[in-house]
Amino acid sequence: MSAEQQPNPNPSPNPERKTLDDRAKMSELERIRHSCAHVLATAILRLWPEAQFAYGPPVESGFYYDLELSHRIAPEDFEKIEAEMKKEIKANNTFEKLIVTREQAVADARAGRLGGLGERPGNESKFKLDLLKQIPEGEPISYFKNGDFIDLCAGPHVMRTGNIGAFKLTSVAAAYYKGDEKGPQLQRIYGTAFKNKTALDEYFAMIEEAKRRDHRKIGAEMGLFAIDTEYVGPGMPLWLPKGTVLVEELERLAKETEFAAGYVRVRTPHLAREKMYKTSGHLPYYADSMFPPLEMPLEGEAKAKERELAGEIEKVRGQTRAVAGASPEEIQRLNERLAQLEQAHRLCGDRYYLKAMNCPHHHRIFAAEPRSYRDLPLRLAEYGTCYRYEQSGELFGLMRVRSLNMNDAHIYCTEDQFAAEFRAVNDMYLKYFKIFGLEKYQMRFSTHGAEGLGKKYVNEPELWKKTEAMVRKVLVESGINFVEVANEAAFYGPKIDVQVWSAIGREFTIATNQVDFAVPAKFGLHYRDKDNSDKIPLCIHRAPLGTHERFIGFLIEHYAGNFPLWLAPEQVRIITLNDDPALIDYCGPLVNELRANMVRVEADFSPTPIKAKIASAEEARVHTMLVVGGRDVEAGNVSVRLHHGGPQGAKPKAQVVAEILQSIKERRA
Ligand SMILES: [Zn+2]
Ligand SMILES: [Zn+2]
Repeated sequence: MSAEQQPNPNPSPNPERKTLDDRAKMSELERIRHSCAHVLATAILRLWPEAQFAYGPPVESGFYYDLELSHRIAPEDFEKIEAEMKKEIKANNTFEKLIVTREQAVADARAGRLGGLGERPGNESKFKLDLLKQIPEGEPISYFKNGDFIDLCAGPHVMRTGNIGAFKLTSVAAAYYKGDEKGPQLQRIYGTAFKNKTALDEYFAMIEEAKRRDHRKIGAEMGLFAIDTEYVGPGMPLWLPKGTVLVEELERLAKETEFAAGYVRVRTPHLAREKMYKTSGHLPYYADSMFPPLEMPLEGEAKAKERELAGEIEKVRGQTRAVAGASPEEIQRLNERLAQLEQAHRLCGDRYYLKAMNCPHHHRIFAAEPRSYRDLPLRLAEYGTCYRYEQSGELFGLMRVRSLNMNDAHIYCTEDQFAAEFRAVNDMYLKYFKIFGLEKYQMRFSTHGAEGLGKKYVNEPELWKKTEAMVRKVLVESGINFVEVANEAAFYGPKIDVQVWSAIGREFTIATNQVDFAVPAKFGLHYRDKDNSDKIPLCIHRAPLGTHERFIGFLIEHYAGNFPLWLAPEQVRIITLNDDPALIDYCGPLVNELRANMVRVEADFSPTPIKAKIASAEEARVHTMLVVGGRDVEAGNVSVRLHHGGPQGAKPKAQVVAEILQSIKERRA
């Protein structure tokens, strides 16, 4: 499956608190940004000394600091806060690390000193007091001090406030302490910081360009998709005819590529019984991100059993009432019996779930026939539709949805075949990157941590080491740009997240490639090996094109809606200079010829002035315009004009048709 929307199976009690390990990994930019959060707090305290601070971590595009303050900070306040921040940066104070005892830290927090410029009697550092409780016994407690400001913090920081090259406050939002809706409501101030002014300016220019290329805006302009919250539901995009072109072209690409790589295609229902997801482990761990089950009416034996249990429950309930004066042991025995019966009764139900991933269905396809080593590797592919119950606040255009179509496949193979299969999957990613002109990408290789074996990770120490070594070898040998991150693997095996950068330099996580050596065993999958013994196959999950929703959302931004010819919803528009019948007679057969070759062509033979006709085609982002006037007819030509490429001159009609067909066939960028 693709990890982009995968829920975390082991959420930590406080996701915002980084471990010391995580902290050691903070990049220079993250240190700059986190240091800037301290400078922000320093500035706010100069303006509002009573402010109480909670968390101030670096985030993907900058940093934030959560604080409690009766004054509602508004964007109009940013200028004066930034002015105070500049003073602190200009002072070039050292970030000094102080190690203290827990008693000292508690005393300072009580005195209001932590997250403060000085002691604040009667205004204790209440959030810092609470954060102190979360620091495990034995872990050192440290402060970072810049000027008068002292914060409870494990670091790391840059050396001096002057190392913060350039910064800007960006927004303010409401946030709950520790994300808990029942907890106190805080104000969260976001900002960003960079090494220097140039990098900061580039970042904001990119944000502006990203707004211009917003997939929701371009999607509406081009008529690609619609989200009908009222009748269909939030997070469930409808693909309009032009968006469907994108979907089907991507599927065609995937099907051709996968066919050439020896995959076979399968199709599976959108539902499965509860047993499927209990076996896969999705239930109960992912229950929150699945749609609630459909309860089916019971029939035959199942119904008889359910009735029998219901009768038994009534009987025991009667007994518990009758023995009001009985011994505590007797009452406990009856209550235990009742609990057992009720549990059994609950399990009588026949529940179906909408599938949140395709893997379990594919595993059952593997199990549907006896398999021998001769059948392996078996590569099962499907553009599978899945459903995930994302929180409504998390839904975002095509990027976060509740129904998704995944470029999914599962490769079942032997350990000996693994390296070659894994290499072939990586080659497929690279091939796609080339087609879409993705020059910058990175694979993030997540491995296990030995201390998590049997808890966070399936307890197969040898298999982990062996597989990770194979994956690493393939990545190095293929010359792939990758980083290795320890202790972030999936439960059932190492994984690779694929990050790509759009044409304007924005980063997206597009797809995941995962190795699985746990789930095939849970589903009892096996094959008969050469020596006649039964063995469990390894499984590779891969989805290079991610989901249609997310990938198309990404492509819209990447191309700014100006898709290459093979992908463009309207590939060609034939435009006559005017509505002269001679021009129309010349162009009619050309439309038919292109259509017969599956080219998406439209005709504009209207009497509208030519300038307006061209402007309308440009606005619709038509890839190629063929403009025809009297002189073209005489010479047997068409005048070619490219969207964003301008006039290309007149060429013989047959040559233009051949070029169009060739470009589409080769999927030229
Ligand atoms: Zn999968
Ligand atoms: Zn800090």
